[in-house]
Amino acid sequence: MKTMDPKKFLENFGRPETLWMYACARCGECVDVCPVFKETDDKYTAPGYKIKKMRALIHKQLMPFGGGADKETVEKVAKGLYECTLCGRCWSVCPYNYDLVDLWEKARESAFDNGLAVDAHLQMIDALKAENNIFKMAHDRRRKWATGLDVPVGEKADVVFFVGCLMSYRGQLKPSAKAMATIMSAAGEKWTLLENEVCCGVPMKFSGGVESMKELIEANVSEIESTGAKKIVFSCPGCYRMFKQEYSKLLGDRVQLVHSTELIDSYLKAGKIKLRKSDQTITYHDPCELSRLTGVIEEPRNVFAKATNSYVELPGNKFNVECCGGGGLYKAADLDRSLAIAQKRIGQAENRGAATLTTACPSCYMTLSQAARQKKSEVKVSDFAEVVAQLLE
Ligand code: SF4
Ligand code: SF4
Repeated sequence: MKTMDPKKFLENFGRPETLWMYACARCGECVDVCPVFKETDDKYTAPGYKIKKMRALIHKQLMPFGGGADKETVEKVAKGLYECTLCGRCWSVCPYNYDLVDLWEKARESAFDNGLAVDAHLQMIDALKAENNIFKMAHDRRRKWATGLDVPVGEKADVVFFVGCLMSYRGQLKPSAKAMATIMSAAGEKWTLLENEVCCGVPMKFSGGVESMKELIEANVSEIESTGAKKIVFSCPGCYRMFKQEYSKLLGDRVQLVHSTELIDSYLKAGKIKLRKSDQTITYHDPCELSRLTGVIEEPRNVFAKATNSYVELPGNKFNVECCGGGGLYKAADLDRSLAIAQKRIGQAENRGAATLTTACPSCYMTLSQAARQKKSEVKVSDFAEVVAQLLE
């Protein structure tokens, strides 16, 4: 780990970020909607306050005899940067449409480079370096979820199913991966898994340790190109957004990137699969990274229109979705508060009379399931693809 140097904390900021921080109108709109600040009441977690303090640090650094940034403030700011779900709610209300998620990510890079990263994040990076997954589980167990299934692996195909670390290794998510495999096969898709899929690298991006991402990206790109696929489908919005932001630079427009909700919606529209209708009351939690940050909003709803006669919306949904509390590696920084935020979401599903709370993100699924268990809620948290697979005709 590098030694902390407060003067260098802001080194990673370019001119646009610095200008934006000074352009901030101090209106406080972002503070009012931040799920973490609502939970902690600690001003260092409030987005506008973090910007104010970073501005002050820049100012001190710029002053010729100012003595530079002070260590204590830098540490408090860095802690606040990791106490954030990267949900983008702050950005969505900012009258300047200031890309705050990008700012938080860049600021985490500075924190990381100054030895201020969260210990759990550093352990995650060690695991990635050792086994190419965040759980430090043996790489050759990545496809264990597919045991007993006749799934294509490393074949020439039209579509690659990029499974991601959570669905590959977490027992409770293995049925979700199986459900996607079932749906694609039912639609007659010519698809394949990668022979050697590795983590997409998004945990490194979120922790700020971006230096090691490159190797993982190159490994996945080479595997994808060997299949000749023209489309990659993701169940995890984190992997999906990571590909859109980082992999597209290498893949160009040769490969189309789609989320499972988009693919399933297209199958239904083309008549490739049919669903019978459930009579259960279903609601849907938009994953922040899928709805607000990537714009996939209507596709899952199109599917629900064909999957149930009783669909209800949650408050704080679509573009204005209220975060489940589990994004941005926040669980690793503060598990209790992350789950407290998720419990509020479960409470909202209860109030809407939902029997099933569906989501289309493995991270949201795990956070919400854990919160529902803690809360002893009767609401069943389900994965989107699993719900669809169960209703396949
Ligand atoms: S991204 Fe979400 S959690 Fe982070 S500061 Fe903005 S509103 Fe708060
Ligand atoms: S909403 Fe935008 S302009 Fe207002 S305080 Fe937050 S960052 Fe500044």
